Amino acid sequence: VARSTGEPEFHQALREVLESIAPVVERHPEYLETGVVEGLVEPERQIMFRVPWVDDQGTVHVNRGYRVQYNSALGPYKGGLRFHPSVNLGIIKFLGFEQIFKNALTGQGIGGAKGGSDFDPHGRSNSEIMRFCQSFMSELYRHLGEHTDVPAGDIGVGAREIGFLFGQYRRLTNRHESGMFTGKGVLWGGAQVRTEATGYGAVYFMEEMLATKNEGIEGKTAIVSGSGNVAIYAIEKIQQLGGRAITASDSSGYIVDEAGIDVELLKQVKEVERGRVSDYVSRRPGSRLITDGRVWDVPAQLAFPSATQNELLLSDAQRLIANGVIAVSEGANMPTTPDAVELLQEAGVLFAPGKAANAGGVATSALEMSQNASRQRWDFSQSEDRLHSIMKDVHRSAYEAAEHYGAPGNYVVGANAAGFRRVADAMIAQGLI
Ligand code: NDP
Repeated sequence: VARSTGEPEFHQALREVLESIAPVVERHPEYLETGVVEGLVEPERQIMFRVPWVDDQGTVHVNRGYRVQYNSALGPYKGGLRFHPSVNLGIIKFLGFEQIFKNALTGQGIGGAKGGSDFDPHGRSNSEIMRFCQSFMSELYRHLGEHTDVPAGDIGVGAREIGFLFGQYRRLTNRHESGMFTGKGVLWGGAQVRTEATGYGAVYFMEEMLATKNEGIEGKTAIVSGSGNVAIYAIEKIQQLGGRAITASDSSGYIVDEAGIDVELLKQVKEVERGRVSDYVSRRPGSRLITDGRVWDVPAQLAFPSATQNELLLSDAQRLIANGVIAVSEGANMPTTPDAVELLQEAGVLFAPGKAANAGGVATSALEMSQNASRQRWDFSQSEDRLHSIMKDVHRSAYEAAEHYGAPGNYVVGANAAGFRRVADAMIAQGLI
């Protein structure tokens, strides 16, 4: 912690993991004696670099690029790239640290990493995005590779950016190395269901949690925050399973559509036109835009925070509970603040932390890597079946670990304990610490 001053999100993630693995370390003192806990906290490598680029008016901009290669005990470094003005080293470290345990939980052979830049893609032209991505990759490419480090998308990095980044890697290395990036277009090495995987996975996890109480998604009302990759496909899966998702949001406000969000319209607005949620409201009678409230004020039984970190606060949790929420599944990474998590759990609300609930995205990325390595292409339903069974496994691992370590029903403890043991055992076996 002393080495990482001024990184509050990293400290928050660290505290959550370290507190929840206390019962593991008590039973297995070797994790402390071997120094594995200390080793896990320190990234194997952190890369920071200058990203100069020229806008359409000819003005030069300089952003900062990051890649934190956190842990490779279980496999090549794996984790997304985020382009958002709030990005700094502490944010990337928190995301990279979380990624280690999430990736371990999937049972796939992938290590943990995260990267990105403080570049803001909003309002930038296609050519500006392309030039930025090319400049970013001109430095990062030397640190990547299918056996070394395999990035993917995250906030602000979707199919378009991945295309530009992959294209620049191919040009610089003279290699069409499919396995060095995931989330690629399906025409050129991408896997079916990767686009849908994180949102679908968060809903599958919700389904598993509800099943432990003999409940299901059908007939329930859900609120979702965000309107990006995760939120759109969470909404789609909720509706497919007979639930009614009635909200979406972006940094300008949130929309309520009591009839249930029209997913095709939302995709058109956000994915095709790159518009705002307000553009949805102007084309959908009966829906409304709210710019001065909190999406968590809308009464519902299920909640899916799917935008960004620390977006669901203690006061929001109080409101959710008062409105009768029964379960929360985190599509985003660390969207719920620690005091809000505690309150929800005390109130008996089922709570799925992001590192378990949103693991479907990276798990499907690992399937993309397998398909690339074996030059296979699975169809949509085969890929979705695999995702579904992986999410059931992730749920089972977290559920059983929580029971085993004396915290039944506490998925935070369960996910952290199960993920930690897999990585820690691999580190000890490899003498990496
Ligand atoms: P997108 O860029 O596709 O969408 C992000 C959404 O969240 C947008 O609607 C955006 O609105 C909103 N948002 C982002 N930052 C803020 C902010 N500071 N305040 C208010 N709204 C904000 O990203 P993803 O859907 O891919 O990612 C969402 C979350 O899910 C992140 O936490 C990410 O780390 C996590 N995640 C994503 C995975 C994936 O496969 N994509 C995998 C696992 C986790 P606006 O456009 O106005 O900024």
